[in-house]
Formats: sequence, C-alpha cells, structure tokens
Amino acid sequence: MSYSAGATDVSSMRALVIHRHGGSDVLTLEREWPRPVPGPGEILVKVKACALNFLDIFTREGMPGEVTPLPQITGGDVAGVVHAVGDGVVRPAVGDRVLLDPSWGCGTCEYCSAGHRPRCLRPRMLGERDPGGLAEYVKCPAAQAIALPHGYSFDDAACLPVTFGTAWRMLRRASVEPDDVVVVLGAGGGVAIAAIQIARLMGARVIATASTDEKLAHACELGADHVINYVVQPEWDTVVRGLTGKRGADVIVETVGASTWAESIRALGKGGRLVTCGATGGPIGQTDIRYLFRREQTLIGSNGWTHNELLRVASLAFQGKLRPVIDRVLPLERAAEGEIALERREVFGKVIIHPEEPDAA
Ligand SMILES: [Zn+2]
Repeated sequence: MSYSAGATDVSSMRALVIHRHGGSDVLTLEREWPRPVPGPGEILVKVKACALNFLDIFTREGMPGEVTPLPQITGGDVAGVVHAVGDGVVRPAVGDRVLLDPSWGCGTCEYCSAGHRPRCLRPRMLGERDPGGLAEYVKCPAAQAIALPHGYSFDDAACLPVTFGTAWRMLRRASVEPDDVVVVLGAGGGVAIAAIQIARLMGARVIATASTDEKLAHACELGADHVINYVVQPEWDTVVRGLTGKRGADVIVETVGASTWAESIRALGKGGRLVTCGATGGPIGQTDIRYLFRREQTLIGSNGWTHNELLRVASLAFQGKLRPVIDRVLPLERAAEGEIALERREVFGKVIIHPEEPDAA
C-alpha cells in the first residue's frame, strides 16, 4: 500500500476515524481518508486546531437515542484556514482565518423559524452527525465561519464554541444579574472555566467548586471570589449557605449531574435558578421537591447556543475580556491520550489537537 502525505495528495487526508463505538482504542488514525469536497454554499477548512470536549467521548462511546452515522470523525471545536469554497460562496474567501460554529439547524422547523436553533428538530453538529475536526480538513456551510481577528491564535479560537457558547447561553437563560451569587461546579471543566469568567463579566459574585486545590487556585485567577474543595468539604452546599449568610445561591451552573444534583438543590436560595447543560457525572439526580416550591426555585435546561450567542461571546474573547485556558496541545496521533485525560478530569482547560503533520508545510 502506498502512502501519500495529505499535503501532496489532494484527494485524501489524515483523520482520526471511529468505525465502531467504544473506548479510546476505537480511534483509528487513517492516513488516506477521503478528503471532503465542499458542495454549493459550503467551505473546506484546513484544520489548524481542534479542541476536545466530553461530547467527543460521548459520541465515540455512542449515546442512547442519538444515532451517529458510522464511520465518523469527532471534534466540534475547529479553527483553521479556508482551503476551498463551493459554488455560490461569497464569504469567507480562500485563505481566510476562521473559527467554525459547529452547530446549525435545518432552518425551516418551527423552532429554527422562531430563532431557537438549539431546539431544532433536525440539528446538525460537526463531530456528531457531520464529520468533525479531528482530521486535516473539515467541510461545513459557509455561514458557520466566523472571521478571526489578526493575531488571534487558532488554539485560543478552537476553545470558544462548545464551552464558551454553552456557558454564555446558560448564564443568559438563568438571567444573571449584577451582584447575584453564582455557584460554578467542577471548575476544571471547559464550560465551568468559561462560566466563571462570564458570570464575573455580568457583575456576579462567583463561588467555584473543584476537586483539587490546584484547580481552585486556577479558578481564583479566573475571577472566582470564593472556592470550595468538594473532596475536603463534601457538604459544599452548607459551605455555600455559610458564605451567603444562609441565603443560598441565586444561580447554580450545573455540568456534573448525578453526583452534585441533590446538593445543588439545597445550595440554591429563594428564587434561585439551577441551569444545567450536561451530566458528565451521571444522568439521574435526586430532587427534593419541597425546596422547589418553598423557595420558588427554577430548573433550567440549556442546550448549546445560537449563532448570535456565539458571535457575542467570541467577540468578548477577541477583545481579551474572556480568556480561553489550554491545558495541553497534542498531535492527532495522540488525541486518545487527550480524551483519557479529559475523562479522568486530569485537565484544567482545553486539550487542543493539531491534525497537521509536524513536518507538513
Ligand atoms: Zn430546525
């Protein structure tokens, strides 16, 4: 079998492919995978950086009720350079540096029509239903491209969509007001890192929880006013009530699920809003319903972001008001190692994958 480098063979590329669902061992490095061809209205982007997310792990393992077409390439958070454009594409142009909004809707269902893309009946997502960025090239509709300002790095840009987009919508849906007490759980995670900074930008007082003092020190650097080590203080809800003069939190940013849910309900004060975007720690949580009605609490689900929300939060990042945090950068062939570190929560911030071969032009 002959081997052609992606840089010289225009029809193939290197890609990390999932042929079947399973553990990190199913990630297969293919050196001659068919390179996508942009259709009308689409662009082909040479991937410079792709950030990993829990979604990549869930997609690899297979999610109940979510059909992933196989073989598949994961990786939703992509920044790169426009390599080719399909018919009818006016913007962006070949050579433009872009960040990709990885999700889009059908544009025609009742939810898309009402501007609620996250509720679309036929949602599309790079790295989930559409081949993603753990490959040298990725294609998507041209409208998904967001121009990168001069000097803004591909690595920082790749950190933005999934975590900052998600956190922005969560805090907006939770109607965070200046001086609110916002508790952000699991401060090593990408959404939490974004949520701490966004809540501060909105004028809130932030309490962050994490499993190690090192992560808590990072959370303080990002703007957390108080931090709680939940391993040392497993009854962190009591600590929150203590820090707030028994008032409780106004908003809790939940990304964990089963292992924190009961405490989250208890830590939430009167009129409090608990907003959740995921359940990496398990999907079934226990709700003491008495808290809900006595304290008039509200449970809010949040699913992704709209394009306008991502534009807004990306703009704040481009201005330097929000800061992506990168834990490590790995080549494509070591992406599995990055996913394992993410699963074990051994990271603070994003794992960035560079799909280009180190010696490629
Ligand atoms: Zn739709």
